[in-house]
Amino acid sequence: QEEINHYRNVHRISVVGKHVPEPTRNFDDFPVEQGIIENLKNCGYVEPTPVQKQAVPIMLEGRNLLACAPTGSGKTAAFLVPLINDLKGPKKKGFRALILCPTRELAKQTQRECVRLSEGKGFRVHIISKINKAVAQYGPNSSQKFDILITTPNRLCFLLNQDPPAISLTNIKWLIIDEADKLFETGNRGFREQLDQILLACTNKEKKIAMFSATYTPVVAKWCVHNMKGLIRITIGQRNA
Ligand code: ADP
Ligand code: ADP
Ligand code: MG
Repeated sequence: QEEINHYRNVHRISVVGKHVPEPTRNFDDFPVEQGIIENLKNCGYVEPTPVQKQAVPIMLEGRNLLACAPTGSGKTAAFLVPLINDLKGPKKKGFRALILCPTRELAKQTQRECVRLSEGKGFRVHIISKINKAVAQYGPNSSQKFDILITTPNRLCFLLNQDPPAISLTNIKWLIIDEADKLFETGNRGFREQLDQILLACTNKEKKIAMFSATYTPVVAKWCVHNMKGLIRITIGQRNA
């Protein structure tokens, strides 16, 4: 345990929560499918970043997580790796993972990284582009041949508000909220109400939630403590850096 604490200190990882899994040292030590490790290496990544070392084993254990780490510290792969491993392969059950982003540009970037890291797996990774097309594409009469949805909250709520709803979130196993600090900022078109609506639509009792943020924000932390059972919080570097 002392050795683990030392390793966390060296990498400026601080953790709060019960039974926090230990950080993983190398990509080869991630208990994930070999293909994913190869995809990471094919990106030119040599070693996991601190947030990846600590967040990946936590998510692989199916724990709810709030992770705060500076911009550019590799948060995208930190949530994509466990998510891709957990979904295993494509299914016809509709979306099983949902990633919320503050901007469409970030959604596109995240989609690109998701495609790279899941190469060879055959997942259908979607962003909602044409909203009118989306109603038919994802509605009750669609094929349900899609796995991962990456979107801004506005578009998703627009689809949920159709009668009947133009998208089903009942099979969502993982809800990821990226750049949570930005999404929670006041004036962001009522993100909190949107999030409540989205959560209500994710009816799977087994679903897990992971939030990622560049800064430690009290409103975000408060939301997590209230809404996420068995929460683990991790911070990389200094709080409020
Ligand atoms: P954040 O979301 O924390 O701002 P990103 O996930 O966008 O960071 O990653 C920032 C950059 O670091 C990206 O160009 C990404 O490809 C790269 N990156 C991610 N993980 C690693 C790693 N383990 N080693 C080297 N580069 C990495
Ligand atoms: P974001 O990029 O955050 O998703 P948008 O500006 O695309 O934000 O806003 C999406 C919202 O705009 C939806 O809530 C919906 O009400 C409305 N909207 C966008 N396109 C259409 C459209 N073609 N028909 C009707 N409403 C639309
Ligand atoms: Mg990011």
